[in-house]
Amino acid sequence: MPYDHRKTTRRTPTPTPTSSHTPGSVLTRALALAGCCAVLAGCGASQAAPPGGKAQETRLESATQSLPPVASGGQPSRSPQAAPQSSRSPQPVSQGNRPLAGRTVVIDPGHNSGNFRHSREINQKVNIGTTRKECDTTGTSTDAGYTEASFTLDVSHRLRDLLTARGAKVVLTHDADRPWGPCIDERARIGNAARADAVVSVHADGSAVGHRGFHVILPARVRGGSADTAKIVGPSRDLGEDIVDRFARATGTSPANYLGSGTGLDVRDDLGGLNLSTVPKVFVECGNMRDPKDAQLLTSAAWRQKAAQGLADGIATYLKG
Ligand code: ZN
Repeated sequence: MPYDHRKTTRRTPTPTPTSSHTPGSVLTRALALAGCCAVLAGCGASQAAPPGGKAQETRLESATQSLPPVASGGQPSRSPQAAPQSSRSPQPVSQGNRPLAGRTVVIDPGHNSGNFRHSREINQKVNIGTTRKECDTTGTSTDAGYTEASFTLDVSHRLRDLLTARGAKVVLTHDADRPWGPCIDERARIGNAARADAVVSVHADGSAVGHRGFHVILPARVRGGSADTAKIVGPSRDLGEDIVDRFARATGTSPANYLGSGTGLDVRDDLGGLNLSTVPKVFVECGNMRDPKDAQLLTSAAWRQKAAQGLADGIATYLKG
């Protein structure tokens, strides 16, 4: 399969004005997006509702130039925690049903439920290789106030359980064990330090009503400063394509109807979590929290289990491939 994303999947030049992850003018987007998410770690354009609350006014990028709140020496400020084993009934241990034994998967639950209370910290800018962006963002929410941060952590737990049952070593970038963050650069470093075979950053989008479906964001070829994605562009595309295929099968949902030309794939060069990764990594936008029909799915525990199944199947397909 071709790895030249420029030929196949770069989004159309005209940004979707209501997609919170659309690159382009932050000012234009923020003004157009009252109530939309600040979703991707690094998009940093707007602010969603706090837990249980209504969507707030969007905010613009902070001019803060403070140093990022991470440990010196390029290491995460805390050691990533290996996920505990699944609480579900484990399968008998044997190599046969532990096909991912010896493989390491890092799961990155997008945002943090505490980010709403730590604006100053998450607005601090960090180096994403090519420029500086906010440490983290709050993420979006459904109209009823179910936050993206709650969604991403729930799906990540389900995904962890499925992968550990298959024998993988799983590392979460956070597990509601810190008041905010991690910053996007630290999220990338956790994957790198784990020497992960695959990293998946779990998100849900905050686009316009009528924009439906899931998509996977792939790293663009980026070189500059401390970023060089040359070695991960190809394998990340393989990982992303496997996830699109298996996610669609597991959930019965379709690739996004508002970007990616129906492929379910997008390529971004403005996300620190991808730019700074040295291991295969993708972001997955599981659906659009701002669309009532998608929100109905995203708020269903049964659907979230299907989503986690699709992610696990896609990761397993990639790792065995
Ligand atoms: Zn997000």
